[in-house]
Amino acid sequence: MYKRKYLFGLMVICFTAIGDLCYAQQTYFDTVIHRVVKDLRSRGNKTEKSITTLQSDGTWPDINYKDSAVALWSPAAHLSRTEDLALIYGKQQNERLYTGIVKSLRAWNRINPICRNWWYNEINCPQLLGQIMLLMQSSKPLPAGLQDSLLKKMQRGNMYKQTGANKLDVALHNMYRALLTRDIALMDSSVAQCFQPVVLTTASEGLQYDYSYLQHGPQLQIASYGLVFLGGEFKVASYVNGTRWQMPVEKCKVLSMFLNRAFLNSIRYRYFDFSVLGRGFSRKNSGNAGAISGWRSSINLLKRSGTDTGWNFADYDAAVKRASGNLPASYQVKPSHTQFWKGDYVQHVNTGYLFTVRTNSTRTRRTETGNGENLYGRYMSDGATNIQRTGSEYFNIFPVWEYDKIPGVTCRDYPADRPAINSWNQPGTTDFTGGVSDGLYGISTYSLNFDSVKAKKSWFFFGKQIVCLGAGIQSTAPEPITTTINQCWSRGNQVIDSSNSNIAYWQDSIGYYFQPGEHILYTNDEQKGTWKHVNSSQSGDTVRGKVFKLWIDHGINPQNAGYAYVIVPGIASNQFAQQSPFSDLKILSNTAALQAISSAKLNMLQIVFYQAGFLQSSDITVRVDKPCVVLIEKMTTAKPELYITDPSQKLKKVTVSLNRKNAEYRLPEGEYAGSTVKYIIDK
Ligand code: CA
Repeated sequence: MYKRKYLFGLMVICFTAIGDLCYAQQTYFDTVIHRVVKDLRSRGNKTEKSITTLQSDGTWPDINYKDSAVALWSPAAHLSRTEDLALIYGKQQNERLYTGIVKSLRAWNRINPICRNWWYNEINCPQLLGQIMLLMQSSKPLPAGLQDSLLKKMQRGNMYKQTGANKLDVALHNMYRALLTRDIALMDSSVAQCFQPVVLTTASEGLQYDYSYLQHGPQLQIASYGLVFLGGEFKVASYVNGTRWQMPVEKCKVLSMFLNRAFLNSIRYRYFDFSVLGRGFSRKNSGNAGAISGWRSSINLLKRSGTDTGWNFADYDAAVKRASGNLPASYQVKPSHTQFWKGDYVQHVNTGYLFTVRTNSTRTRRTETGNGENLYGRYMSDGATNIQRTGSEYFNIFPVWEYDKIPGVTCRDYPADRPAINSWNQPGTTDFTGGVSDGLYGISTYSLNFDSVKAKKSWFFFGKQIVCLGAGIQSTAPEPITTTINQCWSRGNQVIDSSNSNIAYWQDSIGYYFQPGEHILYTNDEQKGTWKHVNSSQSGDTVRGKVFKLWIDHGINPQNAGYAYVIVPGIASNQFAQQSPFSDLKILSNTAALQAISSAKLNMLQIVFYQAGFLQSSDITVRVDKPCVVLIEKMTTAKPELYITDPSQKLKKVTVSLNRKNAEYRLPEGEYAGSTVKYIIDK
């Protein structure tokens, strides 16, 4: 008797527990569905105009359902129009709209358009179908047979096989399907797959140990695929916040680091650095960073999850305020210097400007050309320097650019731009690429060997000034070899100063200083072109604008040419001639073996050793037994600070001798090979 009673009690407890669990699950589903629908409905005002042109068979006359395009594929408009109608139906539930929506979905189901570009089949269309059904389910569900059939059409793409932003996108429509069918197992797995890319990876694609974001092979994609990744993760994290699917704290921390360390620092005022946009820089307006304010509702929801969640949105709030255009470009900008040893990219953030350098190596991929995009940017990763003060220096300049005069790049100067030859997945050719950083100052170096041009290029960052050195420039190509200093929009007047032995140029609050003997060329003319010229899906309308272009001509057949110039961003025209940066900065060496600069003011020495050797200055003698990059601070004190990097990422240790005092220093290994290590030396 007692036994039976006990059993009965146990059964009641079990059923109640299962019942509670089911109830909790249903509540979680309700919460997430409510948030998804609310988020979809928050997307501006939609027009129902398309209902008037919808034909009786559920198709639109202006859509080519047999389109073979790989970008801007015509049938995708069918589902986005239907989604617009579903959004309007949420507000005004009239029968005509409902019938139209059902008719258009029946047509989609019947025609079943397939694109040659997998992205439409496996990401875009299943997502739109899921969104439409969720919107309808919350107002007036679709006929069951139609919904079942469309749910089957959503089952495209393998979320387990994809990586990074693509994985998230495929997992997202699996999550929509889980919500529509209240499938707990599918919900668990799809949310887990959504969050899976939020981890520092040892794989070539995804979020790296230096917090750069790589996709399409190990290729820098911070604000292209990285933007999709970040926005998508915030969105899903906000949908499931506070439910059993909530993002784990560790992942919130990782995502916050990517946001604050790499992503937001690639924006100046309202504009992205052109180097973080991948091939997408060739799309009109892609440099506009205003889109980050679109994450606001997700982030507000995440902020409500309380303390100790791992989220850090302080820098985001400041960035959105800057991007709104109501505050100065310098508002709450914190100076920093970050060398991305996995991404082959450096960001020098100063209150007054952003200076970045994009390079490549045998470990990474050049900026790609594909799907008709970036048709001319063959040199985009050959040491391209992005110099932003106001932020808009390069905004939408790309149709009118001369593509063998990309800022910072040394290359052949063809009579007319040559189409890009990079295509997908093209690795760099050299491995001595990288740099050293102390968090505020640093050095980056790039060994160029591309398109029959070789050079040793380095950038030395001293806060107020950036010194650019080139050495060992060699080519037997028939064209002249040039190094471009800048090619940006022309703003206001220019000033040229040759009163001292150094010649200097000033344009749009930036000073450019050269040493005697350089063959400097300069134009300030209208340039024209079309977006279609650089991206086949874009407009063929002519774009014109006045462009400031400054470059050094090394002539034809240079055998051991070099260059040295200093950039001072944020200087007034009446000051720039009086303040030659060469009064403080001393170029101690600029050869293919050794490039070195000292700053007396900062008591700092910056050296690139392309081979074992030594540097002797009046203050200090430095000797190394292997190629490396060395930054020495507190140079003349009793305890100099030594920062070392091995750009080749192959060495385990290097011996450095300072004023004849020898020591062997261990270098970081594994995922941290190529990162900076600091030692304090007791002289
Ligand atoms: Ca040219």
